[in-house]
Amino acid sequence: MPRVLAVLACPRCRHAKVCDSTQKTTTCGHCSAKLDLRVLRRHVETESADEAQRAAGLLNARLAGRLDAFLEEAVPVAPPSKPGDQATRVRKLARDLAALGPFDAQRFTAELSGAGLDPSAADEHLARLLAAGVLIEPRRGRYAAGPGS
Ligand SMILES: [Zn+2]
Repeated sequence: MPRVLAVLACPRCRHAKVCDSTQKTTTCGHCSAKLDLRVLRRHVETESADEAQRAAGLLNARLAGRLDAFLEEAVPVAPPSKPGDQATRVRKLARDLAALGPFDAQRFTAELSGAGLDPSAADEHLARLLAAGVLIEPRRGRYAAGPGS
């Protein structure tokens, strides 16, 4: 049978931990607390080590209150609608902005921030919107509505 990995959060130091789900107990790698796998909530169970690591990173971010920065990667743990919602909001924001005329990355970043979206992901969003044809870049650093908008 393939090994199933479980992702838990240490109740003492609130750090995520990836462990073998068949174990009964394990030790927190962060604060050395003894963790009982039979009572702790398993946030994710997966056979994929990559997925487990990603889920642990996401859980750590959530426990530290930094979830926004990880929303783009929130596939395994967050509700499935989240990343789509954000992409839809970013797309709508870009469309609305382009409807007012060409804009630059600085303006886009400010609009993201104003809409409560992660401004540090502005470059990624712009690249994606350009690739999708929602935006075009008629001049370097200037963005306008594209054929897919
Ligand atoms: Zn701990």
